[in-house]
Order: sequence, then structure tokens, then C-alpha cells
Amino acid sequence: MNRNLESKIYETDFYRMEEDMKKQLKKNRVITEILQKLEEDVNFEDAVESILKIVGEYLELSGIVVSKMISEEPGFSVIRRWEADGQGGDIDNISKLSSADLPPVAEAVTVMRAEDASGKQKIFMDKCNVKSMMAVPIMLNNAPAMFAIFIEKEKEREWDKETYDFVLDVCKMIQSILYKRVSKNSLVSSYNALKEILSNIGSAVFVIDKYSKDILFANEIALRMSGKNLLEKKCYDFFHNGYNEFRCKSCNPHRTGEYFEEVYNEGRHQWQEIKFTDISWVDGREVSLCVVTDVTEKKKYQQRIEFQANNDFLTGLYNRMRCEEDLEICIRKSVETKKQGLLLFIDLDDFKNINDGLGHQYGDMLLRMISMKLQEISEIEKRCYRVGGDEFIVIIEPEIRDKASDILKRIKDMFASPWYLNGTEYYCTMSMGIVEFLGDSQDVNDLIKKADIAMYDAKRGGKNQCVYYNRGEDITIEENLNLEKNMRYAVSIGCNEFEIYIQPIVNMKTEKCIGGEALVRWNSGKLGFMSPGQFIPMAENLGLITPIGEYVLKQACMVNKKWSDMGHDMRLNVNLSIIQLLRPDVVDTISEIMEKTGVKRSNMVLEVTESLAINDMGRMKEIIKDIKKLGVRIALDDFGTGYSSLNYIKKMDMDIIKVDRTFIKDIVDDDYAQAFIKLITELSAVLNAEVCVEGVETIEQLQTLKSTNVSMIQGFYFGRPMPVSEFEEKFVGL
Ligand code: C2E
Ligand code: MG
Ligand code: MG
Repeated sequence: MNRNLESKIYETDFYRMEEDMKKQLKKNRVITEILQKLEEDVNFEDAVESILKIVGEYLELSGIVVSKMISEEPGFSVIRRWEADGQGGDIDNISKLSSADLPPVAEAVTVMRAEDASGKQKIFMDKCNVKSMMAVPIMLNNAPAMFAIFIEKEKEREWDKETYDFVLDVCKMIQSILYKRVSKNSLVSSYNALKEILSNIGSAVFVIDKYSKDILFANEIALRMSGKNLLEKKCYDFFHNGYNEFRCKSCNPHRTGEYFEEVYNEGRHQWQEIKFTDISWVDGREVSLCVVTDVTEKKKYQQRIEFQANNDFLTGLYNRMRCEEDLEICIRKSVETKKQGLLLFIDLDDFKNINDGLGHQYGDMLLRMISMKLQEISEIEKRCYRVGGDEFIVIIEPEIRDKASDILKRIKDMFASPWYLNGTEYYCTMSMGIVEFLGDSQDVNDLIKKADIAMYDAKRGGKNQCVYYNRGEDITIEENLNLEKNMRYAVSIGCNEFEIYIQPIVNMKTEKCIGGEALVRWNSGKLGFMSPGQFIPMAENLGLITPIGEYVLKQACMVNKKWSDMGHDMRLNVNLSIIQLLRPDVVDTISEIMEKTGVKRSNMVLEVTESLAINDMGRMKEIIKDIKKLGVRIALDDFGTGYSSLNYIKKMDMDIIKVDRTFIKDIVDDDYAQAFIKLITELSAVLNAEVCVEGVETIEQLQTLKSTNVSMIQGFYFGRPMPVSEFEEKFVGL
């Protein structure tokens, strides 16, 4: 090769190299410029506009259009365009095209020349006066979101490999700006929307980064609740004030997924529901969304409902339902520990009298007073229940079984002292049935039933006592129900299943019969023969004692009238229940019966009991006075039992005092009993009352009494209660 040629080649090569380098440098400069635009925090459209200008000038194109496909006409919406100087005009036609004229959307790059074009592409190129073009889709989420169309108008253009690659690179950059903008926008807009929503939900809301425990977001209420700026604080900064031991979910690795807890915040005096949910935060981080809602009102309502369900409205004690639940637990404990527990079933004696006599508000007051007193016994404070009108249950748990006798004593003492109602003292006794759980039963209902049976035994035994359940003789609830049903029936058909027996009463000095006491018997067609102890308590509870008592009085009056008609004026005592006595029409009823039967009133003695003492003395005094005005005598029955009050005899103006038979039982050797009888006779003499002694069974008892001023004797020694005809035969002489 000659040197010239050589140098020529060399020159040419050098020149080309130089050209290439220049080109490369220019390209690098362009790319740097574009990258700078990418870094600038301008909006997408402005960034695109700058890039188009740089690229267009560099490639010496006629124009570039970035447009997106839209659903409405014209189908193309130009986002930004660039044109070389003096070459514009036709590009604008793009936006005038109708969608029908648009070439089909291609996901691939399309390079086209006017001479090769056909169909829609040709129309498009003609209308825009384009000789050559390259259309590149800009993809977002795997679909073309826009097109960048690089246009040449003047001359045919070679879209060489280099240009082609460059154009694709540029489009990738535009794509990356677009992606950034879209994701940033959605981030901002979703954050704003979330903020808006979370600020308006009425609960405190904050978001905790699960790993760093940073609070990333907190709404207004959360800020107010914690009283400080929570951002840049940790989750436990929120849960420090008044939350005691509460540990939030993020701090407790055992809590996963959704979790909620109701917590009492002492600082705010508030019940709060704290709920955690795992979510992805707007920036993709894993967070716990914590929602704290004030549920105090709901909680209060719940507690009220619970209280109403568990407690007795009147006394505030737990009710029967709660009793059964607690008993179940206590029985289980008892079985586990093999220790006995006790169930006490308490029924107030003659509570009806307080209600009828003083009115319900005083009855209610008494129930409340009793309930309060029961709860004062600390061992059973939470184990007292009101299970019925005047029925209470007390559970003595196995662990305090050794204190049972002390507790029992304290309950008994409660009823031994008077209650103050309406400014006056009232006595109210109770009958108690006691069962052992474990020993007597391990079933809730069965235990209550057995305690109830024992309580009825206590009533039958004369009330005011505690009776242990006796496994031998079961009078079941069913039997009681049966008794009630039959008694109601017997009354409904006119009481003629009831019959009076008469027990003689004799003059102590002469030992001659001066009369007798009418004592009722029930010859039930279904249940057989029954003595008063078996049915009077229930008759009183059911109020059936009124018709039965009236029937007895009528029978007694008729019998006495018959005797006096035949010339035998004898006394006849009739028992009057307190229930009858408290009826407002009691005087009229007695008067009417006496009127109708025509009995000689001076022959009749009405026996009332000392349980009167629990009632309003003033009112009783009036009633007794009114009854006495009818011309009958009044006897105070069973004196010495219950709450004997000498003051009472004085105030009540009694004609006869009947000393209870418990005093006579041991009178022969009991100095106290003798002294008591002596005292009563002396007092009665002052009050102008006669004394009758009940329960004389032996000649020794009679002889001991002979040394006293007792005027009348009643007892098996002279005769048991007997049918009227027998009495008439033996003592009236008919
Ligand atoms: P009460 O009025 O004190 O009647 C006396 C009771 O003592 C009678 O029992 C009688 O049988 C019993 N008794 C009499 N003498 C002796 C004796 O020497 N030894 C023993 N161990 N007992 C003796 P009864 O008939 O079972 O009556 C029991 C109670 O039932 C009566 O006690 C009375 O409170 C009540 N009761 C009876 N009849 C009526 C009635 O018609 N109306 C009302 N409201 N109560 C009645
Ligand atoms: Mg009597
Ligand atoms: Mg008596």
C-alpha cells in the first residue's frame, strides 16, 4: 500500500473515529441530560416535554408526539409533543383523527414508511403528512399506557440499529418516569384517603411498624387520647398511661393475626376495646393497625344487663339463677376437695303479715334490711341469694365449713332482735332448712329441693327454727304441690272435708270440764286424715286459712249454740290465725257468723297467738278491742314461746292467757318453770285475766300446778282432742 493511500485511509479512519467519538459524546451528553431531567422533581408532562426536545433535536426529527389512547373520541389524547422549527402544523392533525382512522394498537414497536403503508396506517400517515415514523408503546402494568411516535416528514429516514436502540432507551426512561409518578400518586392518594377515613372513624387509630415498633401514623383521637405527638414514638408510649399490665400485640409475640381485648383504662376511667389487625401499609411495610374504641357505655349497659340477670332488683342480692350457677361451682369444688359445703334455705315466718298489715313498702323495706344484714356476715357476703318472695339461700362453701356453726348462729341472732319499721319494733322470725352438698346430694336442683323440704319441716315443727334435711323422711316438693292442690280443692267444695275435734278444758280446782278448744282436722278424700301441724302452715301461706278458719268458727258456733239451746252453757275456744286477724273485714266476718248461728257470744273464746307481736301493736290493740266489743273473750295462745312480752299482755287487754305446754313438760322438777307460772298468774290477777295451762299429761304435773293460781287446765290427762259427738257424750252429757 502506498503511503498516500495509506495516509488517506488513515485520515479517513481517523476522521470516522473522530466522528464516532463525537457522536458518542453527543449521545452521552443527551443521555446525561435526559437522566438529569429524570432526577428533577418536575411533573411527568414537563419532564416528557424536556426529554422530547432533547431527543428530537439530537435525532433531527420533524416531531415527536406522546399520546395516550382514550375511550372517547378522537381516541388519541396528546400529552406532550415537540416539533422541529417551522415543521409543525400537520402533527396537530393527530388530535383531529377519529378513532376509526387510527391504526390498530400494537404492543410491539412499529416502524413504518409512507410508501409501504396501507389501510388505516396509510390514512394516518397521509393526514399527518408523515413520510416515516416509529411508534413505541410505553408500557405500564404489562399494557401499553401511551405511545411515543417519532415522526419524519421531509425525507425518508433510515431507522438504523443505533437510532432504534436509542429510541427504545428513551422510551424506557419515559416509562420509568411514568411508573414513578403513578406509584407515587397512588401512594399519596391512598395515604390521603386512608388518613381521611381513619380520622373520621370515632376511635383512636394508629399504625405500628411490626418490627421497629415505631408509630407510623396516628389519627386525631389517638393524639388526643395520649396527649402527645405519637409520631416517632413507639407503640408502648401509647400504652403507658393507665393501662396497667397491658401489652400491645406488637410487644407480645404470642399474639398473631387479628386480636382484640377489652381493657379498663384507670387513668381515663374508661373501658376500651383494643383491636389489632395485621395489614400492609401504603408503602408495603408490614404493620399492625391498632384501633382503640371507648366502649364504656356498652360495658355499662352489659353490666346492667348482667346485674339484672344475676341480681334481685329489690334487695340487690344475687337471684336464683346466679345461685344455681354458683352452687354448681361450689359443688364441683366440694367434690374436688372432698369437703362438705352447706346450703341454707331460709323462709321468713309470717312475712305475709307484715305485707298485709303494714303495706308492701314496709314488706320491701324489711326484705332489704334482712338482705343487708345477711351480707354483713363477711364469710357469706357474696353467697346470699334471694330466691323467692321471702325466701333466701345462703351457701356456706367447703373451705369455710368449719365456720358454719358460727355463721348459723349469726343468722339466727339476726332474727332474734327486732327490726325497726315505721318507727316501731317488729319481730320477724325465719324457718331454715339445711342440706349438705356431697352428703345429701351433688345436684343443684336436688339440693335446693331438699333444703326446701327441710325448711318445710322447720315450719311444721312450729317455725322459728333450723332443721337439717332428714334423708329418711322425704316430703317431696311434689307432695307439697299435691297438698296444695288438694287443699285448694277441699276449700273450693265448701270446706266440709274439714272437721272440728274438741279437747276438754277443766277448772283446776273442781277438775270439772268447763268447755273445750275446737281443733281442726282435715279428712282429705285423697290424702287421708291430717292434723293441723300438717297443713295449717301451708294454709296460712296460701291464704286458705281464712275460709278454713271461718268454716271452723261457724261449726264451733253451731255446736255451742246447740249445747246452750239444750241448757248447757259451756265455753268453746276457737283458734284465729293472724292471717285472719289482719283482714280488714275480720270483725264483720266474726260478727256475721255469730249473728247467723245465733251463738251466745259470752260462750265463745277466740285464741290469738303471740306472733301478733311482730305486728303493729297499736293496730292490733284496736282490732282486739273491736272483737271484744262483739261480746266474745280473747285468749292469748301459746304464751311463753316466741317473743313473750309481758308488756304485750298488759296492752292487749287479754281475758285468758294460755301458757304453752313446753312449760308444763318438766314442771315437776323445773323451778324456773314453776316460778314462771307463778309470775304469770300473779300478773294476770292484776290484769284481771285468767290463766289456762296447756299440755298437762300426768297427775304429777296436775298436782304441781295445784299449788298455783292457775284457773284452767287443758291436756291429755283430761282428754285428747276428740270428735264432737264423743266430746258431747263425755263432757256435755248429751
Ligand atoms: P293450740 O291452739 O295450742 O292447740 C293445742 C294443741 O296442743 C293441740 O294440737 C292439742 O292436741 C295439743 N295438746 C293438747 N294437750 C296436749 C298434751 O297434754 N300433750 C301434748 N303433747 N299435746 C297436747 P293440735 O290439735 O295438733 O293443734 C296444733 C295447733 O294447730 C294448735 O295449737 C293451733 O295453733 C293450730 N290449730 C288447730 N286448729 C286450728 C284452727 O281451727 N285454726 C287455726 N288457725 N289454727 C288451728
Ligand atoms: Mg289454740
Ligand atoms: Mg296453744
